[in-house]
Amino acid sequence: MAATGLRMGVVGGSIAGCAMAVAGLRAGADVTVHERSAGALQDRGLGIVIPPSLHKRLVATGYLGAAMPTAPVATRVWLTRAAGDRSAREFARQPSPVTPCNWGLLWQALRTASAGASHHRGRPVVSVGRAPSGGAVVRTARSEDTYDIVVGADGHESLTRRILAPDLRPTPAGYAVWRGTLPLDALAEHRRPLELLRGAWVTIGFPGGHGIFYLIPRGDGAGPDGRLLAYAIYATPPGGAPGEAGYVRQLAEEHFPQEWAEIVARGEHTAMTCHPVADLHAPLAAEHPFLLAGDAAGVTRPHTASGAVKALQDALCLEEALRTSDSAAGALRHYARERTPEGARLVELGRRLGRAQVEKTPDWTTMDQRTVDAWCRATLAGTSSYLYADADAGADTGAGAD
Ligand SMILES: Cc1cc2nc3c(=O)[nH]c(=O)nc-3n(C[C@H](O)[C@H](O)[C@H](O)COP(=O)(O)OP(=O)(O)OC[C@H]3O[C@@H](n4cnc5c(N)ncnc54)[C@H](O)[C@@H]3O)c2cc1C
Repeated sequence: MAATGLRMGVVGGSIAGCAMAVAGLRAGADVTVHERSAGALQDRGLGIVIPPSLHKRLVATGYLGAAMPTAPVATRVWLTRAAGDRSAREFARQPSPVTPCNWGLLWQALRTASAGASHHRGRPVVSVGRAPSGGAVVRTARSEDTYDIVVGADGHESLTRRILAPDLRPTPAGYAVWRGTLPLDALAEHRRPLELLRGAWVTIGFPGGHGIFYLIPRGDGAGPDGRLLAYAIYATPPGGAPGEAGYVRQLAEEHFPQEWAEIVARGEHTAMTCHPVADLHAPLAAEHPFLLAGDAAGVTRPHTASGAVKALQDALCLEEALRTSDSAAGALRHYARERTPEGARLVELGRRLGRAQVEKTPDWTTMDQRTVDAWCRATLAGTSSYLYADADAGADTGAGAD
């Protein structure tokens, strides 16, 4: 028996909102998405990495079109600045198959797959509440609609979450991440980094932080070979406050191998942002008639590369729950049972990775293959992460992945 024919309202029309809409449609629900922003969400485009197995499954099930460009690589390379000069020292290489995506293209693909839902844009939801009928009411300035299920996919400051966890506040990590994309021209004079990035994603360790570099597809229909360089650099800004772009360039100049510092210093960024890193986790991912998805349900430190991954897995779980339960309430119990512990696990994993790779960085100059492998295993402490395929051998690398 399946909980079909339900009216499902979704608050937020970003990655989680569109993915949940696809899940609802595939399970036979009548879906309405309320998105606050009237603008083009695809312009948020930065890099998003997902596991290859999840990508494959999402294409096979119709959440993502097979034509959505990706930039898969199978290896992670660890670099640091060589002691005594400014060259790059490679100190480890690990199997780490990942499928880098462009955020904007991922959103666009999910938006296309959820075209069967009613999408209301430019209409912020002002409140959600319980309806006397047992369902939920979603109010905007111009409308009041009742649904059997309301999905809160409204991001880290979720209004929907306030119903299930009114006192929940983010826990700051005490450091920040600078995130950006650059046209591949930035690598034109840096053939070695470019060659490396064509087959691997790169981590550069420095005292007090690290940077991640990888290629993603361009978001402008540039064809299968069109790429951008995406990076995320983690460090503690002076005074603890979110820093400016100038600070991260200075940091790279001081600590990165020269070629990589020059790349970061290039002025022609397509996008660059700085976020203070924080995490939070709703103690219950669903309680009928409300359900939380993506960042609304929990935010993990980005070292896990799992926020969008979790949102996509949330959607696969909701679809399965609706298909195999005989009521909305039963489906939401199924969802809460599976997704609540996964959110908690990822928050804990993010904290462990953050401690090891930012708060208490090792002396990178002494690290080699053996010490990196052992350090990764110790950091994971038995839990799984698709980024650490080797340290993870035998573990399930992600709920919902095939
Ligand atoms: C540096 C960094 C690197 C990352 N790298 C990765 C990665 O490699 N892999 C990965 O899986 N994840 C990664 N993430 C996480 C990922 O980007 C997020 O988890 C994901 O984009 C969250 O999607 P979401 O739809 O839940 O939330 P959001 O994208 O924040 O969307 C929430 C939506 O809700 C709307 N909204 C909010 N309030 C209302 C309202 N009242 N009414 C109507 N609409 C509303 C907003 O306008 C917005 O469109 C990274 C994050 C960071 C910061």
